[in-house]
Formats: sequence, C-alpha cells, structure tokens
Amino acid sequence: MTKKRALITGITGQDGSYLADLLLTKGYEVHGMVRRSSEEKFERIAHLQGKITLHQGDLLDQFSLAALLSLVQPDEVYNLAAQSFVPTSWSQPVLTGEFTALGATKMLEAIRHTRPQVRFYQASSSEMFGKVLAVPQNEDTPFYPRSPYGVAKAYGHFITVNYRESFNLFAVSGILFNHESPRRGLEFVTRKVTHSAARIKLGLQEQLALGNLDAKRDWGFAGDYVDAMWRMLQQDTPEDFVIATNETHTVKELVEIAFARVGLDWQKHVVINPAFVRPAEVDLLIGDYSKAQRKLGWEPKVRFQQLVEMMVDADLERLKAGGR
Ligand code: NDP
Ligand code: GDP
Repeated sequence: MTKKRALITGITGQDGSYLADLLLTKGYEVHGMVRRSSEEKFERIAHLQGKITLHQGDLLDQFSLAALLSLVQPDEVYNLAAQSFVPTSWSQPVLTGEFTALGATKMLEAIRHTRPQVRFYQASSSEMFGKVLAVPQNEDTPFYPRSPYGVAKAYGHFITVNYRESFNLFAVSGILFNHESPRRGLEFVTRKVTHSAARIKLGLQEQLALGNLDAKRDWGFAGDYVDAMWRMLQQDTPEDFVIATNETHTVKELVEIAFARVGLDWQKHVVINPAFVRPAEVDLLIGDYSKAQRKLGWEPKVRFQQLVEMMVDADLERLKAGGR
C-alpha cells in the first residue's frame, strides 16, 4: 500500500512539530512548508531531520502554494501557519489578517484549482468566541472575537466552511482551545510562567512580570490536540469540532502550581506590569468537547496540573543542561 502523504504549513511551530511526530508514527510521508528566513530556526523539528521533507513556501504567496501542492501531491493538508500571538495582532493587525485570514483563503484557492481531492484542516481557535456569550462554548456558540487575531481566525473559519459548502471540498475547521507543551513559544503565558519559575529556582532571574492574573483559560496538551486534528480528517463527512478539556483555570492558578513545583512562594516573585494587560480581554474560555468525544472517539489525556508540572520539569531540565 502506498503511504499517505501529508503537507503541514507551520511545521516549525509547536503544533506542527507534534503533528509531524504523530503522522510519522502512523506511517505517513510528511512534508512541511517553511518560510525563508536569514537564519533557520528549526529547533522543534531538529529531531525529525531525515524523516520529513521541507519545502520553501509562504502562505502569502499564492503561487508557492499551488506549486507545492503539484509537487507534493498530498492526501491531507494541515494549515497550521499563522501569526498566532494575540498581543502582536494589535501591533501588526494588517499582517495578522494577511497571514491568518487571507492565508487560509490562499491555500483553499490553491487546493480548489490544483488538488480538490485533498482533505484540508484549518487551525481555528477558541479566541473566536471572545466575549462570553455561553458557558461552556461548543460548535453552536456564536463568535464575538476580542482581538485582531480572533477576528482573523473567524474569517479563516468561515472561509473554510464556505469552501466546503460552495465547492464540496473536504475542508474542516478544528476549534481548538489553548494547548501547551514544553515546545510552546516563550511569549505565551504558560511557558512564560514555567520557564521563569525554573529560572528563578536556578537563580538566573528574580522576578516575573505578568498582566491579568484573573483571566480564565481551558488549557490542554498539544500532543493530545494534534491527534484530534488527524481524526477530523479520517471521518466520512467533513465537520467542525471543538477540542478542549472542559475545565477552566485562572492565570493565578497556573502561577501557583508552577512555583509550587519548584518549591517557591509565587507572591515573592510575581509582579504586575500593566504593559502585559491587553486592550480587550477574553475573560473566560471553557470548551465542551462532547461532539469530538462522540464522533471522533477523542478525549484529552493530560489535565491541567500534570501539564503545568510537565512544562516546569522540562524547563528545569533544559536550563540545567545549558539550554535556554
Ligand atoms: P506557533 O506560533 O508555534 O507556530 C506558527 C507557525 O506558523 C510557525 O511554524 C511559523 O513559522 C508559521 N508561519 C507564520 N506565518 C507564516 C507564513 N506567512 N507562511 C508560512 N508559515 C508561517 O503556533 P502553534 O503551533 O501554537 O499553533 C498552530 C496553529 O493553531 C496556529 O494557526 C494557531 O493560531 C492555531 N491555534 C493555536 C492554539 C494554541 O493554543 N496553541 C489554539 C488555537 C489555535 P516560523 O517558524 O517561520 O515563524
Ligand atoms: P491566548 O489565550 O491565545 O491569548 O494565550 P496567552 O498565553 O498569550 O494568554 C492567556 C491569558 O493570559 C490571557 O488572558 C492574557 O491576558 C493572560 N496573561 C497575563 N499575563 C500575561 C503575560 O505576561 N503574557 C501573556 N502572553 N499572557 C498573559
């Protein structure tokens, strides 16, 4: 039997690296699209060298996408590339729209004209829910995004639904709530906290400056969430799914668990810096994943406390080994 071929955009990111790991264990031929930069930053996929094939391309360049589809001839395309950090979406709102919203359209257009039989996954986000209109949020909860990132993701979501309905593409959108791991970017609050707790423990830093400690998020493990992406593309019919843990925790609880893990009192080290408070906040996210449980047979394996402790331990280990 010939191997299934997958093309992942955003393969150098947190989710792309976990998805590549997963697809390789399932016997896929894995291809990744990477954008050209003056310095290659392939830290998260360094362990996959020789096992995956990388191609240059950019979501902003329509022709590079069509050329890549013709070259790779994938069975599945996972569109994970995006400007994914909410605060940057206020300082670079137009670029965020171009990557995160129009980028999805460019890939869908390339698929429609070049390889319409592809199964397409779009990385949608719980940030689309934004203002709290229902608790917990599910596939029927209306969107009210609170940042240019959330607005761009809502566009990406609806264009995926629209191409499915207009052109009969197998295009699905996974509405994923926050998911984290030792490979999470250092600017996101979980990793910022676990990394700083480890650094403070090792005497490399004294304080940690944060913004809003009262925000509540539904935090899961990225390794669990990429499995849900794959399952969505194995269904008989294309449908959208919420992926979450159905638990919510405050940033303060995150801080408490991380500092407790290294035996420190967080109140002696955490300071509030208004620079990290956002112009508009998403106060409460909690996702109802019952549709995914019913139809995909998916449920989260790693829960909040275990996730935070896993991240603190990994940061401690990395720092002790001389890493950053
Ligand atoms: P990361 O920020 O870790 O990775 C983003 C990836 O997108 C990187 O590989 C980056 O490449 C790539 N990228 C950015 N712009 C372009 C471009 N113009 N062309 C090609 N590649 C580009 O994000 P995550 O892995 O955490 O998230 C994956 C996806 O899921 C994103 O779309 C994100 O918005 C979405 N999402 C994430 C959630 C989470 O909690 N993690 C929750 C819900 C949705 P480079 O290395 O060159 O910068
Ligand atoms: P997001 O939910 O995609 O925006 O993920 P983040 O990890 O960036 O932020 C999660 C929550 O943590 C948001 O409500 C932020 O306001 C809150 N938060 C509080 N302090 C900080 C901080 O210093 N950095 C970040 N990134 N978020 C913070």
